[in-house]
Amino acid sequence: MKILVTGGAGFIGSAVVRLAVTRGHEVVNLDALTYAACLDNVAPVADSPLYTFEQIDIRDRAALDACFAKHAPDAVMHLAAESHVDRSIDGPGDFIETNITGTFNMLEAARKYWVEAGRPDAFRFHHISTDEVFGSLPADPAVQFTENTPYDPRSPYSASKASSDHLVRAWHESYGLPVVLTNCSNNYGPYHFPEKLVPVVILGALAGKPLPIYGDGSNIRDWLYVEDHADALLLVVEKGTIGRSYNIGGENERTNLELVQTICAILDEKRPKASGSYADQITFVADRPGHDARYAIDPSRIRDELGWRPSVTVEEGLARTVEWYLDNEDWWRALQNRDGVGKRLGVKA
Ligand code: NAD
Repeated sequence: MKILVTGGAGFIGSAVVRLAVTRGHEVVNLDALTYAACLDNVAPVADSPLYTFEQIDIRDRAALDACFAKHAPDAVMHLAAESHVDRSIDGPGDFIETNITGTFNMLEAARKYWVEAGRPDAFRFHHISTDEVFGSLPADPAVQFTENTPYDPRSPYSASKASSDHLVRAWHESYGLPVVLTNCSNNYGPYHFPEKLVPVVILGALAGKPLPIYGDGSNIRDWLYVEDHADALLLVVEKGTIGRSYNIGGENERTNLELVQTICAILDEKRPKASGSYADQITFVADRPGHDARYAIDPSRIRDELGWRPSVTVEEGLARTVEWYLDNEDWWRALQNRDGVGKRLGVKA
């Protein structure tokens, strides 16, 4: 299959690109290379004859049309987005332009291409989205997000992703475009940009800095190892039912405090400090405005219909992740100089 992956120089997109090429798919990686991108993320497959890169901004409709005409993909996996909630609070404009208008451009370019190709049944437009569109859950473990949970986004980021989900569904209902959607929980793993919680904690711990926990650390997230996520995404684009959405979770709910304590314990074992534990560096800081209390995924649909489950627990995945950051200092040191990295963002509500 020839797959056009947008956002393939980012964290999750690059995991999709690496896995797809390894499995023998042809991949066109379309990415504007924003502050969050890093082409080193795809270095393991960049020399493969199956891999091509196109530097294109999804806000540029003409460039998208040319890319579809040039490459004639069998499927689109649309991941390109502004992805950092804290940045969306400080500057929502980019999130509206890329996540909403950019997705509209992708849908229109895909529709034009698909219609001109004779509306092939096998074509897929796969939109990759987040569980944050569903809002916030109470602590009761019996309550989880299903695919039928009403949308209730709270941040500019999640509102922009909710909008793009609605557009994708509308293009299926109104124009018959063969779409599938996925909404996943918090990802972590290798190549995670060093502004997100897991790498911030690993790298802050190693640097002897305070480890910031928003609020009291009781916010609960479900944690999904990025390589498991990429595996699930390839399954959905190949086997998912047209018009359907699938929730993808890691089956690993943890409070933010538990997550950070686990990372500290792994570091204590792999890179012990001269004295004390990395957990001694934990500090509680002002909460994020509108911080959702809990996200949790009911994974029944993808498990029952497609037979997919995550392969690792969060403890196993975090051990692999910590190991990767210890082995790849050149990668993260270069990214720490990028604009805004290492600063507290998203506090001006
Ligand atoms: P990321 O920020 O690491 O990567 C995003 C990529 O998109 C970057 O390479 C960037 O250059 C590219 N991009 C941004 N704007 C663009 C534009 N206008 N044109 C073309 N390319 C552009 O993001 P990520 O964490 O890998 O997330 C990928 C997707 O998965 C996003 O759609 C996000 O909403 C979704 N998602 C992420 C998570 C998570 O935990 N990271 C969870 C659920 C869903």
